[in-house]
Amino acid sequence: MHIHQVIKYFEEWAPKGVAWEKDNIGLQIGNPKNQVTNIMLSLELNKKVFEQAVKKNCNLIITHHPFIFNPIKNLNFSNNPKAELIERLIEEKISIYSAHTNLDFTKGGVSFELAKKLGLKNIQFLENQEGNQFKLVVFVPSGSVDEVSEAIFNAGGGVIGEYSKCSTQNFVDGTFEGSEVSNPTIGKKNIFEKVTEVRLEVLVNSWKLNSIVDEMKSVHPYEEPAFDVFVIKNKNINYGAGAIGELTTPLNSKEFLAHTRKLLKADALKYTLGNSSKIKRVAVCGGACSDLINNAIDSKADAFITADIKYHTFQEAENNIMLIDAGHYETEIHVLNPIKLRLNKFIKEDKSKVKVFKYSGSTNPVKFYNN
Ligand SMILES: [Zn+2]
Repeated sequence: MHIHQVIKYFEEWAPKGVAWEKDNIGLQIGNPKNQVTNIMLSLELNKKVFEQAVKKNCNLIITHHPFIFNPIKNLNFSNNPKAELIERLIEEKISIYSAHTNLDFTKGGVSFELAKKLGLKNIQFLENQEGNQFKLVVFVPSGSVDEVSEAIFNAGGGVIGEYSKCSTQNFVDGTFEGSEVSNPTIGKKNIFEKVTEVRLEVLVNSWKLNSIVDEMKSVHPYEEPAFDVFVIKNKNINYGAGAIGELTTPLNSKEFLAHTRKLLKADALKYTLGNSSKIKRVAVCGGACSDLINNAIDSKADAFITADIKYHTFQEAENNIMLIDAGHYETEIHVLNPIKLRLNKFIKEDKSKVKVFKYSGSTNPVKFYNN
């Protein structure tokens, strides 16, 4: 099993195309052609995580927070701890791969896992992504429609939520006349043709458009396949920010705080009370997502849990929605569980002996003093 295969499998779930443009995700250091020995998962990389990876014979470390984010000005190995770590990683031939906002915006990613951890049911995105889908329309002679649609589906076109192979197919009349140097599949050059074709329509994600069009063209029988790509304004129901769901049993504010603190293993919670006496509908977003507070209010959530919340955001929320800052680390660390599950599934399918470890310590730099 090579590193690039692990990455390909991982990105089928959390595609790079859904990440923020300014994010720095993907392979940070390393060689994708290397064979994987074992894999270490951690929210971020530091010296202790590196040391444990060496001990466990891991040559691939997958982190949520990008190891390289801000520009590195120099690699002076003697006085810069980050550079020192890079030197050690290269010496040990350890690759670093980071999945940041692509993991935030994917189903089953950071916020979905946080919602699951809190026992929420009927989990949905709090805000779906927009503007990253196209409608692909291809005109195909009816005898080839199955082959062309299959190629599009296999390349990832036609996925709507839990449904795949979604398309619309209508019979239409197509016309053409090939030039002297043409090589028409139907009819003869220089003769006007009118044929029954199928107008095949599918939704495609923007980052898959080029490969889907290539696959479509490779099986389309025409010399010059006719197709259109339309920009659509639909929300992408497959990707989005935050998550919202319901507690099976409503809790009062005090009970809900205790519930949250216990399940997230948080040393302390910062909060303000909202206007619901019972908490049932809960919005969450792992990491710093204060900007989603209005989505939580509009979605009729009784409470919103996120991290890194400013004083004035608490002020806005007070007597409106219960707002809880449960900590950045505490709201994100749970995502290592679905990563581990997925990688183990891939390893099993591949009949490989690679082991996946979660870093056994804590990389949380925030401590509470409450003596
Ligand atoms: Zn984060």
